[in-house]
Amino acid sequence: MVGAVKPPIAFLDLQAQQKRLGSGLRQRVERVFEHCRFVMGPELQELEEKLAAYGGVRHAVGVSSGTDALLAVMMGEGIGSGDAVFLPAFTYTATAEIVLLLGGTPVFVDVDPDTFQISLSSLACRLDDVRRAGILRPRAIIGVDLFGQPAPWQELRSFAEREALVLVADCAQSFGASYQGRKLGGEALATTLSFFPSKPLGGYGDGGAILTDDSEKAALYRSLRSHGEGEQRYDVQRIGLNARLDSLQAAVLLSKLDIFEDELRRREEVACAYDAGLPALVRKPMRVAESESAWAVYCVTLPTGELRESLQLHLKEADIATAIYYPKPLHWQPAYREQHDGVSLPVSEGLGEKVLALPIHADLSDEAIGRVLDVINQWARVQNEPQ
Ligand SMILES: *Cc1c(COP(=O)(O)O)cnc(C)c1O
Repeated sequence: MVGAVKPPIAFLDLQAQQKRLGSGLRQRVERVFEHCRFVMGPELQELEEKLAAYGGVRHAVGVSSGTDALLAVMMGEGIGSGDAVFLPAFTYTATAEIVLLLGGTPVFVDVDPDTFQISLSSLACRLDDVRRAGILRPRAIIGVDLFGQPAPWQELRSFAEREALVLVADCAQSFGASYQGRKLGGEALATTLSFFPSKPLGGYGDGGAILTDDSEKAALYRSLRSHGEGEQRYDVQRIGLNARLDSLQAAVLLSKLDIFEDELRRREEVACAYDAGLPALVRKPMRVAESESAWAVYCVTLPTGELRESLQLHLKEADIATAIYYPKPLHWQPAYREQHDGVSLPVSEGLGEKVLALPIHADLSDEAIGRVLDVINQWARVQNEPQ
């Protein structure tokens, strides 16, 4: 390469973000050290109030991770042996894992070839498959807002209502996004969030939350996150979890909430710059209508697996980080092979080798965006030259 050595472009820059958070972050954390209520301290309640207001729902329940949020919601519905839970095959393992942990069966649904969100037509087919086989009881749908864009919530809600299924929203990647003019949070009976450090609203460790408008369910989730406690501490009403959100994490998240809107705006700017500057050979993420993405992931698609590999290598040589979400659909993973009924899910099966996620975060400079685009355009020109 010619010219001066350029600094690597990271997928995420938590150090730069920490600088932006400044002394406010440290003051929040210091306060926890002062009161020493590390579990169920005042920061948790403050955070829950702010999360509920942000998501436009009545209740937020802080939990230890996005996975535990899903687990508690499924426990709250009594999901267990013989129950079918429908979910997209093209998602993170956590969405499916919790169903199996409870003895239920995840039924994998294909995704839309344009938006990569759960496909309603595949969902209808999969429900038919389960009903025809007559072994499992259809119980719930977990919609996932993949990469930060909303799943087709309106259609999912009508479908779930018509078929008498419980609808749950896995918004681990999309908190901060909006759909039809309002922030996501109240699309389903319960919405689960993850505060894993790389998510749009990330903590300094694991964390999560459940949003709901249903007061009884909120009380149930509070009980489930804390060993099935009743009104009193040692009143054990049910089998629960140890899945509370630490005061320290809540303090960090409160500080990050202060800059969250600014960060979302910057992520949108990065996405727009990529949209405008990418060559035709690289397919941009399709935007879901009537929505604003939280841009957890900016995922492009290449025409073939070889081209994806070639571009990823080219970016790596230029010290630009990329990632692949997800290399394999869940039904092809060893852990789920036995649960899958053998039905082919062609879109999910084809995406794994063609997708590539580019760096997107609030601390990505214009200069860095320009470099990413230069490297990709230079690569595309070489691909288009006659051999
Ligand atoms: C990250 C993620 C989860 C799990 O969240 P954790 O906080 O890591 O447990 C669940 N579903 C999806 C779609 C995710 O991206």
